[in-house]
Amino acid sequence: MTYDPNNIFAKILRGEIPCKSLYEDDFVLAFHDIQPQAPIHALVIPKGPYQNQDAFAVQATEAEIVGFTRALGKVAAMVGLVEGGYRSISNCGANGGQEVPHYHVHLLGGGSLGRMVSKKD
Ligand code: 5GP
Repeated sequence: MTYDPNNIFAKILRGEIPCKSLYEDDFVLAFHDIQPQAPIHALVIPKGPYQNQDAFAVQATEAEIVGFTRALGKVAAMVGLVEGGYRSISNCGANGGQEVPHYHVHLLGGGSLGRMVSKKD
């Protein structure tokens, strides 16, 4: 799978589509999810063209990986998730249910989130 530069998060990074921005630095952009799944639901994305967590882990530079990881902590603190606890999720590929093919981490919280994965019937 190659990176699709026309995915929605690439368009947000280029400023072609607006977002409710939370944080930005050389490595990442963070913004509110358009359809929040919890009282607080932020997305953190790298600025580089990585389609998912797997591509990021293999291809990103060490500076990008450190910058991204540090940003996760900054954003979690910024939106008030640290004290009560929270969940970070990265859906990867078809089985992971990934919809947007640009690596992103969901930061969710603001209340109890229940089970990590819903039980199958
Ligand atoms: P995925 O299923 O790929 O892990 O999650 C994609 C997330 O992106 C979803 O939670 C969805 O609500 C969010 N999303 C999709 N399009 C947009 C958009 O245009 N703006 C924002 N802020 N979030 C989006």
